[in-house]
Parts: sequence; structure tokens; C-alpha cells
Amino acid sequence: MIKKICVFCGSNSGNKPEYVQAARELGENMAASGIDLVYGGGNVGIMGEIANAVLARGGKAVGVIPKTLVDKELAHRSLTELRVVNTMHERKALMSELSDAFIALPGGIGTLEEFFEVLTWAQLGFQKKPCALLNTSGYYDHLISFIGKMVSDGFLHESHRGLMVIEKNPAAVIEKIKSHKPVCTDKWLNDFNLNRNDY
Ligand code: AMP
Repeated sequence: MIKKICVFCGSNSGNKPEYVQAARELGENMAASGIDLVYGGGNVGIMGEIANAVLARGGKAVGVIPKTLVDKELAHRSLTELRVVNTMHERKALMSELSDAFIALPGGIGTLEEFFEVLTWAQLGFQKKPCALLNTSGYYDHLISFIGKMVSDGFLHESHRGLMVIEKNPAAVIEKIKSHKPVCTDKWLNDFNLNRNDY
């Protein structure tokens, strides 16, 4: 049952209106579906857009933010709940613990770092929560191609590429997450290295 989704997204808004629009649509759909938002707690960029969209529709938004960013007055002050932590590592651990699934919206290196961490944990079988990439206006097209290169060049198992739910539409991504079945990752290293160890 998906009750809380952790959304990773840009602290900037990007320069296409579609990015902000996608954040608003996702937030509205989450609130309408009774799904709470867990996110980085900022009131800037795409982060602020999705939090405000959830709150405006009567949904719940929980921010998890390091104290340093609160001190710089970057925290959203009208959230359902603001959890202040000491470090970025604590923040990611708590965001993960509180959530049933993860979605990355368009964002920069912070967004990618957060998304690839949970995807790495999924690959290792440390967590089995769905991880989705919202590919608004093809923003992540090059990244998706590069992940294909990882598979073709032998650095990523085909089945682990399937851990990532990819969708363009904000409403559809929630439905895809709900029906997503994570692959079994238990013996992946053995399977992956079958052809490599015949020297
Ligand atoms: P980026 O994608 O590089 O813009 O980084 C986005 C991520 O950086 C967010 O998910 C947060 O973890 C963090 N972050 C950056 N700026 C802020 C802020 N003002 N408030 C809260 N978190 C922030």
C-alpha cells in the first residue's frame, strides 16, 4: 500500500514551464489520492512547487531538512510537519524510512544523488520500494540512454534497469508505482558474472 511518496526534485525551477507544471500536477494527484509527500523541506524551486500544490489540495507534506538549511532560512514554514536533522546522511535515511516509494522529478545533481542512492539500495536488495523517474518533456532522455549504455557495456544487469519506473505523465507515475513489482535481486552478482569468469 502506497501511503507516502518521497519526491526528489530541483531546488531550482528550471527554465521550461513544463517542469513546474509537472510538479504541481504530481502534488495535486498525490493529495487527491490521499498520498502524503515526503521531501527535502525547502520552499524553493520545484521543491516548493510540489509542497505548495499538495498543501493547497488539502494533502500532507512532510519536510526533512538539515539544521544548516533551516538556519539559512531556506525551510518551508507552512508544512504539515518539518523534521530537522543534523546531517544530509540523516536526512536521506529518514526520508527513506518514512516513505513507501520514491519519485525523482526534474532537478540537478542533488536530485540525481538522492535518486541513485535509493536505486543502488534497491539493486543490492537493501530496500524494495519502487523508484520512479518522471521524465517530464524528455528531461531525462540522455540519462535513460546512458543507463542503456551501462547495460550494453556490462556495468548494469538488464533486470536492474527494470527497477526504475520511467513515466512522463505525473498521474500515470502514481499508478505505475502502485502496480510495480520489484525484481528479485538476491543472487545478482553471481548471475551477472557468469560469462566473465571463464578465464
Ligand atoms: P538540486 O537537484 O541540485 O537542485 O538539489 C536538490 C536537492 O538539494 C534537494 O532534494 C535537497 O536535498 C537539497 N536542497 C537544495 N537546496 C535546498 C533548500 N533550499 N532547502 C532544502 N533542501 C535543499
